[in-house]
Amino acid sequence: MKIKDLLTSNTLSLSFEVFPPKTETSFENVKTATEEIAKLKPSFMSVTYGAGGGTSKYTLQIAKNIKELYGVPTLAHLTCVSSTKETVSQKIKEIKAANITNVMALRGDIPPELENDDRTKWDYRYAIDLIRELKEAGDFCIGAACYPEIHPESKNQHEDIFYLKEKVNAGVDFLTTQMFFDNNLLYNFLYKIREAGITVPVIPGIMPITNANQVERAIKLSGSFMPQRFKSLVDKFGSDPAAMKQAGIAYATDQIIDLYANGIKNVHVYSMNKPDVAAKIKNNLSDILGK
Ligand code: FAD
Repeated sequence: MKIKDLLTSNTLSLSFEVFPPKTETSFENVKTATEEIAKLKPSFMSVTYGAGGGTSKYTLQIAKNIKELYGVPTLAHLTCVSSTKETVSQKIKEIKAANITNVMALRGDIPPELENDDRTKWDYRYAIDLIRELKEAGDFCIGAACYPEIHPESKNQHEDIFYLKEKVNAGVDFLTTQMFFDNNLLYNFLYKIREAGITVPVIPGIMPITNANQVERAIKLSGSFMPQRFKSLVDKFGSDPAAMKQAGIAYATDQIIDLYANGIKNVHVYSMNKPDVAAKIKNNLSDILGK
């Protein structure tokens, strides 16, 4: 099933993200965790892709497994920076052969060792290059990333939205946002992109922070603003793992309920291969989701 069709339905939906194993030895553990999440019957599941190629070979295996065993639509991520035309073309062939029709087209983070490289020589500089290629290669439903708090490399939001619009016009069917911890940032962003003429569905991405160590990593990765309400929660419960987990799940649930209450129909949860966290959030929303 194409995710764009799912997004136009009138019912509320919840989807989950998982990541592939980093090594062959952890493959079985990750497979089991992702299957546990699939059993929760999310509207779809996304499987991330290692930009440096580290975990990339497992993305399709995990996505195919979830789809075939549990009938859950899957979204396979694909990045292009630091890849050659040949590698990407091979990956697209593999995606087709695995019968995956939904692809999240990303640039990927620039590896530190390439930071000062001559980028004009690269086969791919931006996600738009990959989107154009996917559009030509087949009948894919294409997702792309967007940043309510601006991509860290962008000079300002005006510029970020300008390139986002270009990227969408190249053939994007839906957008998923970077994590955020203050819903007002999302509402402001939606207002601005709609005003700029970007009309495709936008799926907010919610990251449940379930241990204090995750906070620093999440901020570093996303540059997200931490509201005082969230900081107080980490201050108070951060040293008690069980309490922090409960509080983090409650905070994420609260964000999702607010999004649904304000007219958002589809929410994506960065469930990070944690079936218990995914199950608790789904359970907290059981009557709201009507299942
Ligand atoms: P782009 O859309 O190319 O944008 C990157 C920067 O370039 C932005 O500042 C943009 O404004 C600017 N820009 C875009 N086009 C142009 C242009 N034509 N000229 C000048 N500037 C331009 N990373 C992974 O490695 N694997 C994953 O699976 C993964 N999944 C993700 C899922 C989501 C929902 C999100 C939000 C991010 C994900 N990432 C993943 C991280 C992502 O790869 C990084 O944030 C990366 O730095 C940017 O990727 P992008 O596709 O948004 O890039």
